[in-house]
Parts: sequence; structure tokens; C-alpha cells
Amino acid sequence: MRVAVIGGGALGSACALFLRRLDRTIDVQVIEPDPTLRWASSARSAASIRQQFSNALNVRLSQFGLQLLREPREWLAVDGEPSPELGFVESGYLMLATTAAGAQVLRDSHAVQRAVGAPVVLLDADALARRLPWLRGDDITLASLGQGGEGWFDGDAFTRALSRKARALGTTWRSGRVSAFVREAGPLRAVVLDDGSRVEADAFVLATGAWSQAVGALGGLRVPVVGRRRTVFAFSCPTPLPRTPLVADASGVWFRSEGAGFIGGWTPRAGDDDPDNPPLDQPDLQQFDERLWPALAHRVPAFEALRRTGAWDGWYEVHPMDHNGLVGPHPDCANLLLACGFSGHGLQHAAGIGRGVAEWIVHGGYRSLELAPLSPARVAAQRPWVERAII
Ligand SMILES: Cc1cc2nc3c(=O)[nH]c(=O)nc-3n(C[C@H](O)[C@H](O)[C@H](O)COP(=O)(O)OP(=O)(O)OC[C@H]3O[C@@H](n4cnc5c(N)ncnc54)[C@H](O)[C@@H]3O)c2cc1C
Repeated sequence: MRVAVIGGGALGSACALFLRRLDRTIDVQVIEPDPTLRWASSARSAASIRQQFSNALNVRLSQFGLQLLREPREWLAVDGEPSPELGFVESGYLMLATTAAGAQVLRDSHAVQRAVGAPVVLLDADALARRLPWLRGDDITLASLGQGGEGWFDGDAFTRALSRKARALGTTWRSGRVSAFVREAGPLRAVVLDDGSRVEADAFVLATGAWSQAVGALGGLRVPVVGRRRTVFAFSCPTPLPRTPLVADASGVWFRSEGAGFIGGWTPRAGDDDPDNPPLDQPDLQQFDERLWPALAHRVPAFEALRRTGAWDGWYEVHPMDHNGLVGPHPDCANLLLACGFSGHGLQHAAGIGRGVAEWIVHGGYRSLELAPLSPARVAAQRPWVERAII
């Protein structure tokens, strides 16, 4: 069997890796125009991993991602050589609620997380103040703190480790951009690259992140995944603070330690996103002054005196209907499997999605984790798959 994976970021690399892990007879080609991954979300991510989702499948996908981060020798070593340093810092997530409704969401999610073995505790404002005295908590109705299996890592190194392992298992990397689809009576037969060459295959995986809508359109296929710019700001604080968890504030602002300093950003509310898609590499510094800093200083009084030290931006690959990934065969083209649209949680779920896509291609169904709820068929049926903890 021949499989062509379109896109060589974390998702495409993970799909290729697990395909060859499952079946060494499959010919796997990954098509990627930019070996430096300059604009790829995987290289521009905040690269954090959490178990604090409201949906059990999302928790389990993170738990599998965690296995790779904790045991890179087992999953990512090549010829006995350990994978590149992944820089995994296990420092937890802290999710904050400031209303009764928000507290109920945390309680409901907590029950789901505990049921699948996530080590998470709920804290009231007093307990929170005792644990994290540097954090302002008088407006907090409830907090949820991860006690293990959450943190952050080097997203670029992780992506490169996935692709290095996939190559070592026999995957071929092809430099080029898919510019046309060749479809005959439904199935996809081949894709044409920008140099005019054709790649024929029996199955194709669409792992082109924020570009997925445009690439799907090459074959006349609707793939509702769009790029939305997200900016990450780096800052320092003159008052020494202990290493923080990743704090997801009820205001939509998040921050966490990064080395000796901090990084943070902001999750726009529904309808509050910038539809004009400004270009990358021009971070909106006004956003920092107007939105981020006031919220940061409110939550951590020491941040009143912070200094912005840098910023970068990247595309969130957003599936607007429910901000969860689209995984599985395209309803109008059965041999094109989608693996895109993960919004802000694609890196931590790359391994679990890659394994699932490989199982679907090799076995005709999922074996390890049932990924059917992520099927693209839910788009036409207008059945959103709800995850309440979207960052
Ligand atoms: C600022 C920011 C913070 C984030 N924080 C987190 C986080 O904390 N935790 C987390 O889990 N996730 C996070 N994410 C999301 C995560 O980074 C993405 O979900 C994930 O990296 C997507 O990987 P991908 O391989 O699908 O896409 P990408 O990494 O974007 O790769 C897609 C590839 O497709 C290629 N491509 C495009 N067009 C074509 C074509 N025509 N032919 C062939 N190839 C093509 C591109 O060159 C690109 O390399 C964040 C994202 C951003 C931007």
C-alpha cells in the first residue's frame, strides 16, 4: 500500500511514524514544502500539555502524548541514540473560575478527568492562597490544579524528533507543495506538486494545519479549518517568583514560566477573533498593553512591574464549529483522511492522532483510542463535539 501524507509538521510526522511502526510494508511519503518549518504552527507553538479537558477522549489523547515526552527513548530513539532533548518541564496547569457557572464547569470536568486517572485537585480561594501566595485569588470561585502529567516542552524539537523517527523507520520526505489533486470518480488518485511531479497513492492524509481549507479546495473538497493568528508574548518580572504552572485565567489570558521569565497570551472569545488574518511576524504589541498586561497584573500583583522582552506569533489551525480536530475520511473522498483543525491542542495530541490515523489506514478502524467522535462527518450533520476547556 502507498500512503502520501500532505504536510510535514507534528501531525504529518506523527502519522508517518505510526504508519511505519504498524506496518513496515507500507510505502509512506511525506510532502512538505519547507524543511525549516518556518511558518508551521508546530514550530511556533506554546507547546504545553494538559490533562485538564472536559472531554475524556481529549484527556486520553494527552495521556498518550505524555508517554512520548516521558519515554522518548522508547518512542523516538533512532539506532539506540536518544531523541533530541525535548525540554519537558512538568509544572502543571491551573484553571481558574471567577463565577458560579465557571466553577460548575471545573467541577464537571474534574469528574471526567478523575474517571480517566488524571491527577487533578480542586481548590477553593483559601486553599489556592495557601499554595500560591503570589496569585490574587479573592475573586476566584474555584481553581483546578494539575499535580502531574502536565507542563510544557520544546515544540520544534518534538516535531523534529517525530520526523527523525519517521524517516528512520523508512518514510520518504519529499520537498514540494501540493498544487493540484487528481480525482477520478470520487477517490483521490494522485496529487501534483508545484514542480509538476505527481505522487500517486492509495490513501492520502491531509495534515496541513492552518492551510487545510486551501489545500482541500484544490480537490473541490470542503475542509473548514482556517488559520487564526495567535501571539505569544515573553516578559520578565523584577520580583522573583517561583516557577508557575500554566495559569488559564477566567479572563481568557494565560501565562506560564519560561526559563527565568514568562510567556503569555490571550484566547479571543467567540466572534472576537481577527478575521482579517494579519500576516505573521508583526505581533500586535498594542494587544499586550491593552489586553494582556492589565489582566496579568490583576491576577499577579507583581506583574504590575513586568517588562515585555519579546513576542512571536503563529497560526492556530481553527475548526470554528467546535475547536476540535477533524480526524478520519473526508465524507466526499473516502481515501483522503483528515488530521487537522486542532486549534490550540494539536501538538500535545499529535502522537495519539498519528497512531489513530495509522490504525484506520492499516486495520480499517481504530484500535487504541476510539477517534470516531472526531469524524469530519459531524460537520455536515452540524453536530459539534463539545470541549469546554478551549484555550
Ligand atoms: C501560538 C500558538 C500556541 C500554541 N500552543 C499550543 C499548546 O500549548 N499546546 C498544543 O498542544 N498546541 C498548541 N498550539 C497548536 C499546535 O501548535 C498545532 O495544533 C499543531 O502544531 C498543528 O500541527 P500540524 O502539523 O497540523 O500543522 P503545522 O505544524 O502548521 O504543519 C502543517 C504543514 O503543512 C505544510 N503545508 C501547507 N500547505 C501545503 C501544501 N500545499 N502542500 C504540502 N504541505 C503544505 C506547511 O508547510 C506546514 O509545515 C499552538 C499554536 C500556536 C500558533
